Amino acid sequence: MIDIKKHGREGPRSYNSPMPERGIVFLMYHELEIAGHPLCQSEAGYLRYVLEEAGFLAQMRWLQHAGWRGMNVSEVLGLAPQNGGLRHGVVVTFDDGCESDLIAAAPILKDAGCNATFYITVGFLGQRGYMNAIQLRELSAAGFEIGCHSMTHAYLIDLDEHGLQYEIVQAKAQLEDIVGKAVDHFSCPGGRCDASVIKAAQSAGYRSVAHSRIQMNTPITSPFDLGRIAMLRQTELSAFQEICSGDGLWKLQLREGVRSAAKRVLGNSLYDRGRALLLR
Ligand SMILES: [Zn+2]
Repeated sequence: MIDIKKHGREGPRSYNSPMPERGIVFLMYHELEIAGHPLCQSEAGYLRYVLEEAGFLAQMRWLQHAGWRGMNVSEVLGLAPQNGGLRHGVVVTFDDGCESDLIAAAPILKDAGCNATFYITVGFLGQRGYMNAIQLRELSAAGFEIGCHSMTHAYLIDLDEHGLQYEIVQAKAQLEDIVGKAVDHFSCPGGRCDASVIKAAQSAGYRSVAHSRIQMNTPITSPFDLGRIAMLRQTELSAFQEICSGDGLWKLQLREGVRSAAKRVLGNSLYDRGRALLLR
């Protein structure tokens, strides 16, 4: 877990965030399933995080029709100008760098007037089902924000300083080489994050770190402790609406409480093996 005393949840952030007082929900997506396309991974449990393209479209249409703004991380942190006021908004993020980011999510987001931050796992670029460097440049050139999601998708809390350098610092440099822009935001593989991850990200020059703890982010949340809500395949549109408003988070927190207790007791790899067995 994150050392809050050291990295501070209290105190206003140094830049001019348009984030509403009560906070804002960061949504976390992964691959979108496109009819006729095989998925990136076949391991047990992967499908749980894969939304059907039509499901994502329905969510973005709902945001649009309800007058909600879908933003990227820089917009909401006040690092980039955002269009119009922010009475209702969510931050849209994608992890891993699947090809569906470019060919399915990006056009839907554009149509709905939304932006998003796409966190890329550098080592996945060019692998089957993932974007290659040319596609990533295309996504960036279309106006979407590119963030970093490590080099190899290793669980960072298990790594020493050398490993953190590779996953956090070198991955940033490689991404910046590809897109030709600064890469300011980092998201932790598997949502696992601790004080040394944050320290490495800060010294590498990132301006935020996101994990997947279920929380709204408010103007006093540290930008290096951004919670996100995993969007799941089974999430109904009504539950999506509750999540965006922050009202449905307590139900998810309850479920997550059980899961993190299991992770604490078993450790990461044993937990993953057990989960795979159960899901088989
Ligand atoms: Zn990931």
